[in-house]
Amino acid sequence: MKLLCVGSVAYDTVRTPFGRRERTLGGSATYFSVAASYFTSVGILAVVGEDFQQKDRRLLEKHHVDLQGLRTVEGGLTFHWQGEYGYDLNDAQTLKTELNVLQGFEPEVPLAYRDAPFVCLANIDPVVQLKVLDQMHKPKLVAADTMNFWIDNRRKELLEVLKRVDMLVINEAEVRQLSQEYNLVKAAQRILAWGPRVVIIKRGEYGVLKVTLQSVFAAPAYPLEEVFDPTGAGDTFAGGMMGFLAAAGELDSTALRRAIIMGSVMASFNVEDFSLGRLSALDRSEIEERFAAFKKLTDFSPLD
Ligand code: AMP
Repeated sequence: MKLLCVGSVAYDTVRTPFGRRERTLGGSATYFSVAASYFTSVGILAVVGEDFQQKDRRLLEKHHVDLQGLRTVEGGLTFHWQGEYGYDLNDAQTLKTELNVLQGFEPEVPLAYRDAPFVCLANIDPVVQLKVLDQMHKPKLVAADTMNFWIDNRRKELLEVLKRVDMLVINEAEVRQLSQEYNLVKAAQRILAWGPRVVIIKRGEYGVLKVTLQSVFAAPAYPLEEVFDPTGAGDTFAGGMMGFLAAAGELDSTALRRAIIMGSVMASFNVEDFSLGRLSALDRSEIEERFAAFKKLTDFSPLD
């Protein structure tokens, strides 16, 4: 297995201006792993309750996501997140975070996962992220994600995580909150001083910024005519990007830029339907076509 993701597997209740879905499959590890599965072998480390449905397990199995690390807690309930979006789909309002089985989750990395060269510490308690890192054998690339809930509740542990990762993938509002700096380049630079070599800022419909000490790279988001539900776009982006990198094997700046576009391609599909409706039904040619469309989107000739 090339890529390990620890994160949440959730039931989400989501309202957008275009509809509402009650307790539908979600979670950072779910979106991440399904997106990554189009490119590489991926496994998840996560916990669910007894209410976790067979059809949802089957969706992950259909994508060959390794589920050795998916634990079911007897008598427990799956993590539940409830959120809504107004017409500014970049701005998710959390209405409820019911941690349920996520509370007290003691991650035990299966032996078969410990040599995974690529690791994503997706959005979950930073205490869990640290415990996972402790069990891994020298991965080649470790990326982490987080959100306001953990920045508010586990700042100290999150700063420990940052010391030990190569890459932070984080959204615009959260990078400002974490760094306490409004300007995005300065915010990223402050975080670079805390540990990661690369900070990737997800800006919803405005695309993505990659900041290192040497350079800044900007990628657009695909201008879609129909967006139904932005939930999971960030995790899908990270899954597409990391899955692509794990398959490419290279970690230079060219590979990273391509991977960022591939992440953006996958995220652009995900927002076209609720839950994993669109993400779980893609084929290779659609993915390649949209990758080519991204190239066209910013194609212009240089000055003579
Ligand atoms: P995003 O990619 O940022 O839209 O992430 C959305 C996913 O994050 C949803 O499917 C939620 O289940 C999950 N989520 C929301 N809050 C948390 C949290 N505090 N910890 C872990 N996962 C969460």
